[in-house]
Amino acid sequence: MQGATMALAAARSGLTPLVVERGKVGSGATGNSYGIIHGGLRYLQGLSIGRWRRSRQAQAWFLDNYPDHVRPLACAMPLYRHTMRSPMAFRAASALEACLYRGTGLARRLPGLQLLGAEEIARAYDLPRRHLVGAALWHDLVTDDMETLLRTILADAGASGASLLEETVAGDLIVADNRIAGLKVTRADGTVQEIATPRVAICAGSWSSRWPQEPQAASTAALAFNLVLDMPFPGDAALAVSETPGKGRSYFLRPYEGGTFAGTYYRPAPGAREPEVMPADIDAFLEVLDRALPGYGIAEAGVRAVMPGLLPDTDGTGRTLSAADTISAPGPAGLCHVLGSKLTTAPLLSIDAAQRLWPEEARRAA
Ligand SMILES: Cc1cc2nc3c(=O)[nH]c(=O)nc-3n(C[C@H](O)[C@H](O)[C@H](O)COP(=O)(O)OP(=O)(O)OC[C@H]3O[C@@H](n4cnc5c(N)ncnc54)[C@H](O)[C@@H]3O)c2cc1C
Repeated sequence: MQGATMALAAARSGLTPLVVERGKVGSGATGNSYGIIHGGLRYLQGLSIGRWRRSRQAQAWFLDNYPDHVRPLACAMPLYRHTMRSPMAFRAASALEACLYRGTGLARRLPGLQLLGAEEIARAYDLPRRHLVGAALWHDLVTDDMETLLRTILADAGASGASLLEETVAGDLIVADNRIAGLKVTRADGTVQEIATPRVAICAGSWSSRWPQEPQAASTAALAFNLVLDMPFPGDAALAVSETPGKGRSYFLRPYEGGTFAGTYYRPAPGAREPEVMPADIDAFLEVLDRALPGYGIAEAGVRAVMPGLLPDTDGTGRTLSAADTISAPGPAGLCHVLGSKLTTAPLLSIDAAQRLWPEEARRAA
């Protein structure tokens, strides 16, 4: 997503970018993600107003530019008294959000928060009633076909002059007089080609550290993965659950092609080059889900697919991912790294990067 939207932003700035992708479009973290374009309600609970605003702006970007590739996804979260996931906390976040919409002039594009009763949510999902006091229901956006969305973004970039080379590995930078002069690439048949260019934008996600001028955030990785389970899931909303009711990391489960799409599980993977999910990782995630939703038989459910990705992360736990959005221009002139932490905000980060890195070109294109 970072590379595709960077190509779009560069092409719209009047440049003629070439996207070099070592695999197929979507073969990295983006194509294996849970596909949610987050609205940021949860950021309000931590009073991260800036992050809330950016998430809402990101949702608006997708709705304005790719309305046929995203759809609203209802998300339900069971609530418990005396926790951050209590009706009071969600009512406060919702009231704050209403004020922010008024104060910032941002338009509300998706339905606002609703609170459901304990009986209703317990019945819908067969949840244990102990300490359950209700549920929050909000809407995010989701994309069901990430590869098509990415190819559509790249086609739009192509209409403004961008092109794409798949199954081509970007290798060494060619530098002359401390300026970028080109990039060596290796094609699928093993031929090495030198591409002359005065600019290289590295948008290689967790692989960014392959180039020596790596941004700090890429130095440690987290492994993240989703599972498609051979088990039907009720309703059509996503359900957010946690191992201990009302506390800790949330995992989302939603119906998916007759099964259940469950995610996202994280573990530190320092120094990892490829996302390798071990049977023990899958077992650990199934056990967590089984504890979160007892009675579903998740521990014994068949696993239809594992969707893994590596994420650049400063502590390898997934906790600091939000801090990882970086645009840096280290080393030779013309080189930049654009490293995002979410597919949600990747397009906005690309627009920021283009404005910061190529203001002259953008002015001329305008
Ligand atoms: C399991 C999982 C679930 C997630 N769920 C969500 C979610 O619901 N919502 C959300 O907002 N975010 C989510 N994320 C995070 C999000 O997916 C990533 O932050 C985002 O997709 C990163 O995009 P990217 O383009 O920077 O990286 P990537 O998608 O990894 O793209 C990097 C690309 O660079 C290519 N590449 C690497 N090295 C080279 C080279 N030498 N030459 C050529 N090409 C190269 C790779 O093949 C890859 O395609 C999730 C991540 C994972 C792993």
